[in-house]
Amino acid sequence: MSESLRQILWAVESDDLPVFDYDCVVRWEPGELARCLAAGLFSPAEPSRFLTCYECGELHDSEVVFFPHVVTGELRAAIACTLGEVLVPLERLQRWQMPIGTFLDVVFAHIERNGPPAEIVSGRVWRLGKAKWANSQWNVFFARRLHWSDAWKVINQAQFPARSVVFTPQHVAELDERIIRRPTMLPLREVLTWGEGPKFVFDHAYVEDHLAELLRSIAAQTVKKKTRKQGPRPAHINAIMSELQQHLRAARDYAITTRDRTGAPALLKPPTKETLAKLVGVHKSTVTHCFRDESAVMLNYLWNLAHDVDRILDYRSPPSCGS
Ligand SMILES: [Zn+2]
Repeated sequence: MSESLRQILWAVESDDLPVFDYDCVVRWEPGELARCLAAGLFSPAEPSRFLTCYECGELHDSEVVFFPHVVTGELRAAIACTLGEVLVPLERLQRWQMPIGTFLDVVFAHIERNGPPAEIVSGRVWRLGKAKWANSQWNVFFARRLHWSDAWKVINQAQFPARSVVFTPQHVAELDERIIRRPTMLPLREVLTWGEGPKFVFDHAYVEDHLAELLRSIAAQTVKKKTRKQGPRPAHINAIMSELQQHLRAARDYAITTRDRTGAPALLKPPTKETLAKLVGVHKSTVTHCFRDESAVMLNYLWNLAHDVDRILDYRSPPSCGS
């Protein structure tokens, strides 16, 4: 990976407003700065007020002072050093900024969008739009700082829909049982390269392969679930209840977390009957019949509970399944 791309992804991961100074970009391959400018990634920022001194070997930072040349009146810049005043070329003062929104616009220019990226978790997650890969439509997101310890909360807060793919600069979230629905995460360092001229190459083949593999494993799991859970209605009712209980445990944790943070508990969106049907591996009509079954008292109790945030807070342990 080119040095410029490596530093850009690093900055997007960590900085609120990435800024690149002359001393940094001058070490890139020739032409890389021009690429960033031509791609529309970089725009001029306030000049540096401090520069590093390379004269004395101490690499100290000093404030830049300006003065006119005694004869020509031309503006000159210098920094103070123990060796005396050190003249610095004016070009060293240049800096460029790259707002996150600009980065997303340039990198995801090919994604089908309804508008600018929507920041759905402040500073962490953006909804970008939709894209088709591996013969499926995907919801496309960008998220960053998923190596932070609060990544599980950020992912739960974002409530990524099914069939979501989340691009990150470098890091993906670690496995964490507190994550309610773990989306597919792909680091851009695996996907992006500079192409010819000032354009990124977005490695669609890599994304396709990854997502096709994911769809194959989901299909295999569904077949397994179907074989395991196909059976008479009581077995279906138990299977649906077990999915609801799993949801309720997550919903209780979510309600407690949001209450502690904001003062009011929030309701984690309960699965629809359609989703329950998919999870259990039966047709939607089977789920409807299960709910209507006169023996399904506990099932209906759990269903109502999942929609009542105040009672969810008191949810302790799975009630008996022998309804
Ligand atoms: Zn010095």
